[in-house]
Amino acid sequence: MADQNQAGTKSPSGPVRLGRLKVWVDRNLCIGAATCVAVAPKTFVLDSEAKAIFLDTANQEAEEAIIDAAKACPVAAIIIEDEQGKRVFPQ
Ligand code: SF4
Repeated sequence: MADQNQAGTKSPSGPVRLGRLKVWVDRNLCIGAATCVAVAPKTFVLDSEAKAIFLDTANQEAEEAIIDAAKACPVAAIIIEDEQGKRVFPQ
């Protein structure tokens, strides 16, 4: 699992560009509830600090699943914008 994620990169919690979406995790908000991992398992994994980070397979995830994961996060730590910089979630 460890070599599958982007924990070694500078900003493992994003922002990342996934299709038409720009997605990132606010690490100060994230409480490691892992709901996002359950909803979008190709996109999110928890790092050693129990903060959500992006997997290399995130671009294989359906856009809907990523948006659903953001909506399911109990503290709204997953932030999504569209290509125009318009907030998709949270609104
Ligand atoms: S669901 Fe939210 S709080 Fe839980 S790990 Fe994901 S981003 Fe963090």
